[in-house]
Amino acid sequence: MSRVPLRRVFAELPPYVPGARAAVGAAAYKLSSNENPYPPLPSVVAAIVDGAADVNRYPDMHATELTTAVAGRLGVAPESVVAGTGSVAVLGHVLAAVCEAGDEVVMPWRSFEAYPIAVALAHARQVRVPVGPDGRLDLPGMAAAVTERTRVVLVCTPNNPTGPAVRDDELRDFLAAVPRDVVVVLDEAYVEFVRDPQAPDALALFAEHPNVVLLRTFSKAYGLAGLRVGYAVARPRLAAGIRAASTPFGVSHVAQLAALASLRAESELLTRVDAIVTERTRMLAGLRAQGWDVPDSQANFVWLPLGHRAAGFAERCAHAGVLVRPFAGDGVRVSVGEREATDIFLAVAEAHGPR
Ligand code: PMP
Repeated sequence: MSRVPLRRVFAELPPYVPGARAAVGAAAYKLSSNENPYPPLPSVVAAIVDGAADVNRYPDMHATELTTAVAGRLGVAPESVVAGTGSVAVLGHVLAAVCEAGDEVVMPWRSFEAYPIAVALAHARQVRVPVGPDGRLDLPGMAAAVTERTRVVLVCTPNNPTGPAVRDDELRDFLAAVPRDVVVVLDEAYVEFVRDPQAPDALALFAEHPNVVLLRTFSKAYGLAGLRVGYAVARPRLAAGIRAASTPFGVSHVAQLAALASLRAESELLTRVDAIVTERTRMLAGLRAQGWDVPDSQANFVWLPLGHRAAGFAERCAHAGVLVRPFAGDGVRVSVGEREATDIFLAVAEAHGPR
């Protein structure tokens, strides 16, 4: 019997594995998907309920009120903002807008596990540049990897899963070295958690470099992971190209209203972000006091470079009631959430020991 041929590239790529979900009723903390531990604010729930009355209609295709509000908040032209079904979908649309089959996309590795899949979907080829042992992106190495076939470079800052953000000076040198017809995507899914004073001002770089595209999301700091809203900021011509490559009606009406309500409640949400950053500091300090050599984190997670011990360590965490994310043979990523979860996690880390 003949079978439908599937694209080989997807059989060869590791799938995007969702973080383990806490079993219903179990006293487990889910620290495996870099989610926001806080429930939605009442004003956001009210917006979601309001939106429900209109779901027999298609949403505003380009989420105009939302993109205009985001643009106003960032100080960019409204036509520069393109929304989509989470920033992971928007990344796919950026690649679809600029890559021809066989073009190259330079990316750090290890980094966000969806990158190789998104590149394959765009029929492009991934060029991986290893992150350093300190979890930092090798920007000079990434600039050196650019060839005439390179259409896009992905700069994940802070880098998922290792944690550090790039520095402004090294990013400026990098942008000066990369040709202007290569799109540089600054994936800033965790930007609201960054406290490093040396981190770049991405909006200033966007203003200076027409090939810079910012990628941001409502999933993390704004706590709307389940509603799937992200966006790109690009120069109007490129933004129009990304819009043309987008899934029609990708952001639901309910999601648009919730994101708008979140923008209105921004100061309260950013206070929660401050609390998560405080908890991150406590987690990093606790690990280092136990002798762990962990990279800096500017995001809502911490990386333990455990090598072959990753899977066993994750299992121990699960037994203790915290679900973390192992990357086989490489390390474990732990999201920063509730205080009690940090306490349980630190107790496991201490019992397991850094070596
Ligand atoms: N970029 C990075 C670096 C991420 O870690 C994630 C989520 N894990 C995303 C993008 C995508 O987030 P979303 O699609 O929820 O906006």
